[in-house]
Amino acid sequence: RREANLARAHEECRTADGTRIEVVANLGRPGDAASAFAKGAEGCGLLRSEFLFLDRVTAPSEEEQTAQYQEIADGLRGQHVVIRTLDVGGDKPLAYLPLPEEENPVLGLRGVRVSLRHPELLRTQLRAILKVKPTGVCRILVPMITSASEMRAVRAMVEEERRALGITAPVQLGAMIEVPAAAVMADRLAADADFLSIGTNDLTQYALAMDRGNPHVAAQLDGLHPGVLRLVAQTVEGARKHSRPVAVCGGIASDPRAAPLLIGLGVTELSATPSVVPDLKAFIRTLTLPQCVEVARKALTFESGDDVRALVMSTWPGL
Ligand code: PEP
Ligand code: MG
Repeated sequence: RREANLARAHEECRTADGTRIEVVANLGRPGDAASAFAKGAEGCGLLRSEFLFLDRVTAPSEEEQTAQYQEIADGLRGQHVVIRTLDVGGDKPLAYLPLPEEENPVLGLRGVRVSLRHPELLRTQLRAILKVKPTGVCRILVPMITSASEMRAVRAMVEEERRALGITAPVQLGAMIEVPAAAVMADRLAADADFLSIGTNDLTQYALAMDRGNPHVAAQLDGLHPGVLRLVAQTVEGARKHSRPVAVCGGIASDPRAAPLLIGLGVTELSATPSVVPDLKAFIRTLTLPQCVEVARKALTFESGDDVRALVMSTWPGL
């Protein structure tokens, strides 16, 4: 079956009843782009740009960044690339970026909060992204958004840099939904974002108040917890008010058991680990939307992630 799935991996992905679901890849370095393409990824839904910034003494130049982003866009043969702006905090110190030592770095300066305090670093990255050819192939995704004002601040910088570079085409700017307040407020946030992408790893951590890095709670850190799924549902509802698409780029997007739930809640793009793309696409092709909606609705009424998983596995015994 593996080979059969791989053979069809390059066909676009739709449910059995025709709902278009984009299956794209999470990438962490340029070398992964060509293999993701070979697996049938329809683009990159999350480029974790940290690889360019960590373990070095000076920040990467604009030219160096553009070259790396270009390599990824080329490796994906011109399909869209969602580049997440630098997502670091006190737990990942950078030699060239002075950050305070914090007692709770996960609740402190990280993601867009760092970027807004060091706008020169963000502006360089934005220009580097804007210069990738063809124009518009790259979309920009902002991590750890908590409030719409942060989106507007980044948007203002994107627009300034775009004009300075003489680029006339609009740039797609998205908000990562990984803070519970952002999920709850998605109806407001979506007014200032072209798309939303749910980072379920952090969203789960913050919703369940369980540190991702803490082995004592690792077993309970469950992205299928109904409390997390309700936040996903709320995000989609909010996005719909402004007709914005919603992607999931956290770890559960790679779990086939999550796919019917996410699709049933209205997510239209899954960004997964490249290796699972062929099987994920094949499974989605067997689903129908009403069936997904029914299972997702039921899941929202359950009390645990284990109950949700049991429902999915009894509905699709092959999983
Ligand atoms: C997430 O939080 O779900 C996510 C995709 O980002 P990261 O895992 O890089 O924090
Ligand atoms: Mg995250």
